[in-house]
Amino acid sequence: MIETTTAPHVMVYRNFIAGEWRDSHGGLFEVYSPANRELLYRAQRSTVEDVRAAIAAARDAFETAEWRDDPNTRTAALLKFSEAVRARHEDLATQLTRESGKPFPISRGEALRLAETTSYFAGLARWIFGRSQVPQPGSLSIIMREPVGVVGIIVPWNAPLALLARALAPALAAGNAVIVKPASYTAGSTVELGKIIEGIPEFPKGIVNIVTGPGDPVGAELAKHEDVDMIAFTGDTSTGREIMRLAAGNLKKVSLELGGKSPTIVFADANFDRAIRGAINAASFYNAGQICIAGTRVLVEESIHDAFVARVAELVPKMKVGPGWEKGVEVGPVISEAQLRKVTGYIEEGKKEARLLVGGHRLTDGELAKGFFLAPTVFDEMPPDARIAQEEIFGPVMGIITFRDLDEAIRIANNTRYGLVAAAWTRDINKAMRIATRVRAGSVWINTFGKMFQSTEMGGFKQSGLGRQYGLEGLFEYTELKHVNIQMEK
Ligand code: NAD
Repeated sequence: MIETTTAPHVMVYRNFIAGEWRDSHGGLFEVYSPANRELLYRAQRSTVEDVRAAIAAARDAFETAEWRDDPNTRTAALLKFSEAVRARHEDLATQLTRESGKPFPISRGEALRLAETTSYFAGLARWIFGRSQVPQPGSLSIIMREPVGVVGIIVPWNAPLALLARALAPALAAGNAVIVKPASYTAGSTVELGKIIEGIPEFPKGIVNIVTGPGDPVGAELAKHEDVDMIAFTGDTSTGREIMRLAAGNLKKVSLELGGKSPTIVFADANFDRAIRGAINAASFYNAGQICIAGTRVLVEESIHDAFVARVAELVPKMKVGPGWEKGVEVGPVISEAQLRKVTGYIEEGKKEARLLVGGHRLTDGELAKGFFLAPTVFDEMPPDARIAQEEIFGPVMGIITFRDLDEAIRIANNTRYGLVAAAWTRDINKAMRIATRVRAGSVWINTFGKMFQSTEMGGFKQSGLGRQYGLEGLFEYTELKHVNIQMEK
């Protein structure tokens, strides 16, 4: 993925620890554009020693600064952060598009989402309260919420700013100190945020630390270290399982946002045009399919199957594929050569298991040869038990499955180890309600897809995760409950 060369004059990102920019003990790694393989920057290949320094800085800040007891300062700090991100959102989006290859408007939306999520939780910093009761005569109980302490936040590369926001903002709003570990492919856009934090005096030094480097040892050390109280992890289900194992050492809290294989269900009574566009949008070609909630299994009612397939075959090949910085591009590259190989492997397997409708190959015309571009791919007649219907491909690949009635649709929708999101298109309120109540997923959308608000919780059922992001529950994840009892004298 990332090799070391000796190219000069390339930007170097340092770790942000205790409010200082520090070199690591492990040298540097290099990050290349997935769209043209240009060397973009170098970042720190941190070691266990560097991670421990960040943990010590976070612990010290948490124990000594007034941050944990001062919601007004936390609100002010987060609001300033939000405003600064908003002011710099075009630069952040440019960086994100360079390192991920995704279309610029998608990167811009992500940078703005970081600003919005931070301002939402800035308000909630002053809304952290418990309750009180008199459980017996002369006895007063107070149920208080306190910050968990030192929180390690481990982020993937597919939507690094938006995904960081929904852990970083509530963790800070609740009064914790954090260590952020970005994915290596997108380290730069995250380290840029350290520059913003450095300029905001309301953030005590060491309350936010950013350490780059490989999952093991950087993320692994955060997950196992005794002085880290909680890990907020977003990434692959297998990595989540490993994080849980490592976290067992000191029984730290874990919040896990993992993979998905989400169904979008189209009934014959749906608004046909809206449903088609909704299903294509759900497949997340705009991020080359690299979205955890991607609706990669499209369940279509038998009577409209042929019309649906014909329209998909007409629309999907028209999508413009290219580097995200080019105007009008709708689909960027996948993140790396390894990802390209993985997705191509699934496509080749899919050709044996299902009927290839469109795409199914790498794009190498002209400049595209320099990057990791795949044609948006759709399979029809995908067997619900096939590997491409069961495993998360994380590429621009969607599969169509036919169903006969509501019960069969629910059965197929639930026939996966994942349970992140689901969507259905229908005008029948009874079908909509049955889907909403029977499909085991953390979010269910009816006649729409992907509506995530800062004030509404999201998260996974089954192997899609543990805990919730966003909303009040997403804030309370980063708190501990304490019972204080006071005995009154007669
Ligand atoms: P990944 O699990 O490979 O990596 C995620 C992060 O974990 C990276 O920062 C990585 O360096 C780190 N990591 C890797 N090994 C580690 C270890 N042993 N210990 C600690 N940290 C380690 O995932 P990815 O490829 O970066 O991201 C894609 C995955 O993320 C997909 O499965 C996708 O569905 C999932 N995802 C889930 C959500 C959600 O909200 N549920 C959102 C986005 C992405």
